[in-house]
Amino acid sequence: MDTNMICPCCMEKHATKIVHRKESNIFKELLVEYDAQYSYCEQTKEIFEDENQISVNDISMKDAYREKKGLLKSSQISDIRSKYEISQSDLCILLGWGQKTITRYESHQVQDNAHDTILRKLDSDPEWFIELLNRSKDSLSPRAYSKCSSAARILFEKNHDNYLKSAIMSKYARFIHDPDSNGNKELSLGVVIDMIHYFANSEEVNSLYLVKLLKMLWYADSLSYKRYGHAISGLVYRSLPMGAVPVAYESIIDLSSIPSEMVDFGNGIGQRFIRNDYDSFPNLSREDMEVLDVVASRFGKTTTGTIIETMHNEESYKKTKNREVILYRYANMLSLS
Ligand SMILES: [Zn+2]
Repeated sequence: MDTNMICPCCMEKHATKIVHRKESNIFKELLVEYDAQYSYCEQTKEIFEDENQISVNDISMKDAYREKKGLLKSSQISDIRSKYEISQSDLCILLGWGQKTITRYESHQVQDNAHDTILRKLDSDPEWFIELLNRSKDSLSPRAYSKCSSAARILFEKNHDNYLKSAIMSKYARFIHDPDSNGNKELSLGVVIDMIHYFANSEEVNSLYLVKLLKMLWYADSLSYKRYGHAISGLVYRSLPMGAVPVAYESIIDLSSIPSEMVDFGNGIGQRFIRNDYDSFPNLSREDMEVLDVVASRFGKTTTGTIIETMHNEESYKKTKNREVILYRYANMLSLS
């Protein structure tokens, strides 16, 4: 509390301590618990709320309600707005909402479900934001327009990975309940990225070109399946003349967290995966890394030609028709153990 204000408990001017208390309250027929702050008068040993605290505590209570209902908290709404560098009233123009709507949502008014869904979509989809922004261009000041537009374009580029991830996950949707195709493991892109980093940073591996990498991923998943009854990544592989290739591999290797460079051979261009000195792989277990080590020491220094030839002798390859999914049931006959 401001020291120039008179304490309502003892009617004197003095500094007060801030104390926190767990409160519970019924809001819109829902019991919510939240952290409330009060001022404490040491003379009368009483607590009280000043005007600012009344407002802060009301927002805490409503945020607790929002959280329980799965709605964005008031601060999350203002975070979305600040990342696009748009004002409260301009955002209302973009969304076609009443002029004060966002201002109210960022404070005491709880948004309804429909508006919450729209705000979440806006948060995750800069491309959509840009579309709305362009539609409202004439209603915004040129300065506001160009500021939001450049913020959104930067986010759109950064968001590239999220678009790739949804493209990948949609291609894997049909395999989710098919353990013979995905090796009894739902696809985890975090795991795939860690596997590629692990190979790229291994001392046992050099010249990690695309075709060799894809084969090494397949060997690792198959060996894990043979040993433990489940693949490491959940990737689904198709059989091509050059061996196993994961579904949606073009999008996977395009993820920005996978460092690679293009190498010109004179008669064509190859993509080589390079070291980034990562030494922690949070998505891999000890067993996973042991499997990757076996694959790295077997194939890490071989040529692409050799690994393709080895793959051609695997039962998994011989039993699978061109372009069909390689089933994990054959992994038990894998040449590695
Ligand atoms: Zn007092």
